[in-house]
Amino acid sequence: MTIEIDVALHRRTFALEVAFTAGAGLTALFGRSGSGKTTVIDLIAGLSHPQRGRIVIDGTVLLDTAQGVRMPVHRRRIGCVFQEARLLPHLSVRQNLRFGRLFARGSGGPSLDAVADLLGIAPLLERRPAGLSGGERQRVAIGRALLARPRLLLMDEPLSALDEARKREILPYIERLRDEAGLPIVYVSHSVAEVARLASTVVVLDGGRVAGQGPVDAVMRRADLIPDAAEAGSVLAMTVAGHDDTAGLTRLTGPAGPLSVPLLALPVGRRLNLRLPARDVLLATEAPQGLSARNVLPGRVVGLREEGAACLVEVACGAAILLARLTRASARDLGLTEGSPVHAIVKSVALDAGLGPGGGRLEI
Ligand code: ADP
Ligand code: MG
Repeated sequence: MTIEIDVALHRRTFALEVAFTAGAGLTALFGRSGSGKTTVIDLIAGLSHPQRGRIVIDGTVLLDTAQGVRMPVHRRRIGCVFQEARLLPHLSVRQNLRFGRLFARGSGGPSLDAVADLLGIAPLLERRPAGLSGGERQRVAIGRALLARPRLLLMDEPLSALDEARKREILPYIERLRDEAGLPIVYVSHSVAEVARLASTVVVLDGGRVAGQGPVDAVMRRADLIPDAAEAGSVLAMTVAGHDDTAGLTRLTGPAGPLSVPLLALPVGRRLNLRLPARDVLLATEAPQGLSARNVLPGRVVGLREEGAACLVEVACGAAILLARLTRASARDLGLTEGSPVHAIVKSVALDAGLGPGGGRLEI
């Protein structure tokens, strides 16, 4: 499964030149407002057309200006989910889902019941959209898109109209969709939390151009790529290893080593992307005294970069690279240079959405 995008669009006030390839899983188009994310989505969907471009999904050419190929919207088989669910208000949830099926081509694809189960909307089938929460409406909109048997799902800021509680409610369903539906997803967001949690690959847009792209853990460590540099940090693919109810802790294993976090309501074996913001990682040159050994990971400095009054330090821990944000003075006091052995002390992790009782940040 590959998606190849290479498009150029020049408007009077805005020029877009974007090329990227993506594979299976969820590819995030990430960037500040006005960077061109929605423009790219519209071009892929066929809602607008570039002066020059080539868009190929799994070998099917949707657009190739050099060859004069321009597949019309209705033949592209691309599902779209926008900020607002845009459901038909006079129809029940079931009828809205069936409406999606009307646009399906060919046979196969998931059944209405399978989609309702995947998205947890089976109990809502006979209800009308007006009685649903924002998160429930978005899940129905996703279901409707899936039932049209798309070859690709586009999601443009699907959570940005929802409050934090509704976001937490819907994120696990998007994870299931990513992991179980076998459908590639291009997901637009300006939220570091969403991207860290959901993306396999990240394409960062800035001023209509690709500022950087790569696996989520590599991109989210790049303070120079992230609109809000203070949000930079590592993203670790962790697995729930066990729970200690007495201590109130869940043990996670992952590429940097084991970490313990306050109890999570997740089954053993569940995988999750854990974001470790750089500002919440401390460094010590010796094993810390008087601190529990929990969440202290030994490693070695592999990169140092000064940024204003801060120093961003990359530390190789096991198979992962953690990012720590120190003041320049502390980096100097510790005498850090490339190769220095250090202990990374993880102060807190950002468990965005749906994991802890209140979501948000967990102090360890
Ligand atoms: P994003 O989704 O990243 O916020 P957009 O792709 O919506 O950004 O917009 C990129 C730029 O293109 C912005 O400067 C915006 O004002 C401009 N733009 C968006 N849509 C149109 C349009 N239909 N006509 C002219 N300019 C547009
Ligand atoms: Mg937009």
